[in-house]
Amino acid sequence: MLKLKTTLLALALAGAATMAAGTIASAQDKATVGIAMPTKSSARWIDDGNNMVKVLKERGYNTDLQYAEDDIPNQLSQVENMVTKGAKALVIAAIDGTTLSDVLKQAKAKGITIIAYDRLIRGTPNVDYYATFDNFQVGVLQAQSIEQGLGLKDGKGPFNIELFGGSPDDNNAYFFYNGAMSVLKPYIDSGKLLVASGQMGMDKVATLRWDGATAQARMDNLLSAYYGKKKLNAVLSPYDGISIGIISSLKGVGYGSVDQPMPIISGQDAEVPSIKAMLRGDQYSTIFKDTRDLAKVTADMVDAALAGKQVTVNDTKTYENGVKTVPSYLLKPVVVYKDNWEKLLVDSGYYKKSQFQ
Ligand code: BGC
Repeated sequence: MLKLKTTLLALALAGAATMAAGTIASAQDKATVGIAMPTKSSARWIDDGNNMVKVLKERGYNTDLQYAEDDIPNQLSQVENMVTKGAKALVIAAIDGTTLSDVLKQAKAKGITIIAYDRLIRGTPNVDYYATFDNFQVGVLQAQSIEQGLGLKDGKGPFNIELFGGSPDDNNAYFFYNGAMSVLKPYIDSGKLLVASGQMGMDKVATLRWDGATAQARMDNLLSAYYGKKKLNAVLSPYDGISIGIISSLKGVGYGSVDQPMPIISGQDAEVPSIKAMLRGDQYSTIFKDTRDLAKVTADMVDAALAGKQVTVNDTKTYENGVKTVPSYLLKPVVVYKDNWEKLLVDSGYYKKSQFQ
């Protein structure tokens, strides 16, 4: 009898434990993850949002995906809503990395896991992890493509170059610029590269909100002020949307012909219009950052953090946000040229060949 009782008790306890485990598992399965993306005006963020939703749904989470159309107050209220509605984790690609401190403080007080997605969130202790690409390396690759396109390593030159930076409120923009300058500066110092405008440094070359039209207007000004007789040979562009603006400006004054070939122009994100521009010979290179991998790494962070497990990171030194160094996972960016785009972008299933016909 005693034995039976003990067995029953054991069974009851086991059952309770299973139930408890079940409750935890299903609570975690049903947890909502808020995903705040900056804008739909660029295809990469649409892919990012879709990939995040896909991966998180496959893993049993609910998702709340919001786009803020590059409007800072809009993104702030979207994140506030996610917190109010009970999200267990937030995945945020900030428009301005410094404007979310108050809402993140509230989120932390509720025990929400906060992940900076692609762009670092600055000026707050309330960011747990950062999933991104090696942003310095992005700039290095952009500049190396210019080095290659111009033949600088073979001693060719001097060449005229102009520099464009990304949005000054996006931490990444400084990493891209500094990475690029680590390659270009020695050529500028030795006189192999000349910046006729003299405009160097993020304070002079930044492009607010990564806006292509803003870049186009700046290129118009540079061309009319400094390139009346001189030819422009290269343009450092940090992002495909900016490259497209630069190309329009150059076409407007006759570049892109046999007598006046397009300068070597870099880019980033491997967006379809820029791949097409590359195939036409208007843009020289772009950088592919596989957003499928970024979504996976970010979902792994969510999984581990919500299960109270150790989150995998591979960099704990680089991303100082003004308050703390945020543990990060950095993925590898890849440079895309006319001769490897198909292998990288179509064979990998990232795009369909028909998108380019
Ligand atoms: C991203 C780039 C993108 C840029 C403009 C940056 O934060 O890292 O991939 O080109 O924003 O959207």
